[in-house]
Amino acid sequence: MSELTDHVRSLDACELPSYIYDLKALRTHAAAVRQALPERVEMYYAAKANPEPEILAALAPYVDGYEVSSGGELAHVAEAVPGRPLAFGGPGKTPDEVADALERGVERFHVESAHELRVLAASARRVTPGRRVAVLPRVNLPAPEGSLEGSSLAMGGRPAPFGMDPVQAREVVGALTDGSCPQLHLLGVHAHLASGLEAAQQLGVAGAVVSWATSLGVPLAEVNVGGGMNVDYVGPERRFDWTAYGEGLARLAEAHPGLTLRIEPGRALTAYCGWYVTEVLDVKRSHGEEFAVVRGGTHHLRTPAAKGHDQPCTVLAVDDWPHPWPRPAAAGERITLVGQLCTPKDVLARRVPAPGLRTGDRVLFSLAGAYAWNISHHDFLMHHRPAVHFLDA
Ligand SMILES: *Cc1c(COP(=O)(O)O)cnc(C)c1O
Repeated sequence: MSELTDHVRSLDACELPSYIYDLKALRTHAAAVRQALPERVEMYYAAKANPEPEILAALAPYVDGYEVSSGGELAHVAEAVPGRPLAFGGPGKTPDEVADALERGVERFHVESAHELRVLAASARRVTPGRRVAVLPRVNLPAPEGSLEGSSLAMGGRPAPFGMDPVQAREVVGALTDGSCPQLHLLGVHAHLASGLEAAQQLGVAGAVVSWATSLGVPLAEVNVGGGMNVDYVGPERRFDWTAYGEGLARLAEAHPGLTLRIEPGRALTAYCGWYVTEVLDVKRSHGEEFAVVRGGTHHLRTPAAKGHDQPCTVLAVDDWPHPWPRPAAAGERITLVGQLCTPKDVLARRVPAPGLRTGDRVLFSLAGAYAWNISHHDFLMHHRPAVHFLDA
C-alpha cells in the first residue's frame, strides 16, 4: 500500500486521474490462485476483464492461455503475448473473424450455435484444409438448484443469447461426431453460467457441467466450466476461496480420470491489482447532503454505475492549500463522491464515511483492475483520459 500511496502523492495534479496497476500484487495473486488449483485444472484468463498488454504479460507465467471474445481481442492478445494458446469464444462471431482466427492458428473455438458451427466448418474447409480444428460447444445448462442465487450476472440457466440449450448443444455434438464435419474435432464442452459466484456455488456449477458433458457418451478431452468467481465490492477483504475451489475441483478431476478441467476467470484475477486515483475538485452541500466532485468519474470507472455498487475507496489527505480563500471541506460524516459528468448517474460511491474530506485531498478507488477503464464511455463530455501507470512493471 505504501508504494502505491507514495506514487499517488508523487503525481502532479495534472496527472490525475490516473489508473495505477500494481503488477507485483497481480503476480503474487495469480501465483496463489495457480497454487490453489490442482495440476489437472488449466486456467485461461478471460481477456475482456482487462486487456492491458502489461497485465496480459504479467499473467503469462500463471495461466495456460487466454480466452478472447472478438476479432479485436484476438489480434490484440496475439500481439501482447505472442505464441500463447487462445480460445475464441463469445456470441456473434463474424465469418471474417472466424477465418482470421483460423489463419492465426487459434487452438480452440467455443461454438455458440449450430449456425456458427456451419460457418466454422465452411471456413475451415477453405482456410485450413489440412488441419483439424478443436471445438467446444457452449451449453447453457440449467444450473443446479440454488447455485446461481446472489449471482450478479446470470448468463445461463435462463433465456440468454449465450451458448445453446442442452438439446441444441447435443445436436451440435452429434454433428461433430457423425463424420459430417471432418475438419472439426469435438475437444470438449464449454459453459460459463454466471458471474459473482462463491466457491461452493462454482463447484455446484462445475459438477453439473461435467456431469452433463459425460452423459453425452462421447469421448471428451476437456470440460471448460467457465469463469465468474466472485469479487466482493462491499467487503473487498473477503476474497474468493480459491483453496476450497481448488480442493473441490481436485475431487471432480479425480472422479473423471482422463478429463482436463479448465476454468477461465477474468474479474477475480485482475480486479484487485487496479486503482483509479484522483483528487477532490470541490465539496458542496445540496439540500442537506454533501457531495465531493472528483476529477474524472464514471466515464473512466464505469464499474460502480454498471454494477450498482459503491466503489471501495480510501482518502489520502493532502495538506497543501494554495489559494487565499477558505478550503471547501465536508462538515458531516458521510459524503457522496461524484465525477465531472453532467448527469446524476455519475456517482462513484454514495454516502461513504469520509469526515472532513477537503478539496485537494486525493481519493484512491480500489478494485479497479477489471471491467473498469475498458468498459467505460470515455468520450462522453470529452474530458482528457487518465494516465496509466504500472508499479513494478
Ligand atoms: C466474461 C466471461 C468470462 C469471465 O468472467 P469473469 O466474471 O470476469 O470471471 C469467462 N468466460 C466467458 C465465456 C465470459 O463471457
